[in-house]
Amino acid sequence: MSNGRLWVVATPIGNLEDLSPRARETLRAVGLIAAEDTRHSAPLLAQAGAQARALALHEHNEHEQAARIVEHLRGGGDVALISDAGTPLVSDPGYRLVRAARAAGCEVSPVPGPCAAIAALSVAGLASDRFVFEGFLPAKSSARRERLQSLVAETRTLIFYESSHRILESLADLRTVFGDAREAVLARELTKLFETILAAPLGELAARVEADANQQRGEFVVLVAGASGEDAEAELAEGRRVFALLREELPPARAAKLAAAITGAPRKRLYEG
Ligand code: SAM
Repeated sequence: MSNGRLWVVATPIGNLEDLSPRARETLRAVGLIAAEDTRHSAPLLAQAGAQARALALHEHNEHEQAARIVEHLRGGGDVALISDAGTPLVSDPGYRLVRAARAAGCEVSPVPGPCAAIAALSVAGLASDRFVFEGFLPAKSSARRERLQSLVAETRTLIFYESSHRILESLADLRTVFGDAREAVLARELTKLFETILAAPLGELAARVEADANQQRGEFVVLVAGASGEDAEAELAEGRRVFALLREELPPARAAKLAAAITGAPRKRLYEG
């Protein structure tokens, strides 16, 4: 008997009409559905007419559940993997299962569809030829600022996920680290009733959201324009200045590490010039 196939199925990020016909067909055809939260997905599965047994696969049980699912695949049954919304594995569980299925010799196929990051990028109007998906920022402010600092010289468009709990704090930190003038876009509640897309420099964007409680509700994708060549050059110059100062007191590697952390300039380039 040949192995079953693991189908990685994207589901809507808000509007149920965005479930593709192929996704619906796949959910109806498989014998087992691995869902991040079976209760959350129950209405979608009912609407799709899926009858299969649903099994919970989340961050905390992925290892054990992957073994069970692989057993099902090896018995010849197909499995669909879905998450609460959008594309599984994108800031969602599933990569361990995909690896385990492939390691067991099973085919893994995507049924592509909605993804909040890509939907937001498609309407942001920021450079989209090269971009970096950063997912969720750390919850603690110090760690968040450190992460942002490491991205300050990044020239590709940056994409972050954020929840209503932290949107204000994150926008404030983005503003502090990247500066008021950096172009940004806030994509809120995409495909839903209160969908809003705000495009403005970070200082203005943060102020607008702060002033309007409605703009703090729901789910968010935050996009920030990459550093321009001028920003990057200014940062490098600042990095080299700080490096030279620290170098008087510290070994070169330590001085470079600190200068890079303080200014956001790429560490390797501090030694040049
Ligand atoms: N796998 C999903 C995807 O493909 O986009 C993302 C899952 S992640 C756990 C959830 C986050 O995605 C939310 O906190 C929010 O940042 C973003 N998100 C999901 N749906 C959204 C929507 N309709 N509008 C804006 N952001 C959304």
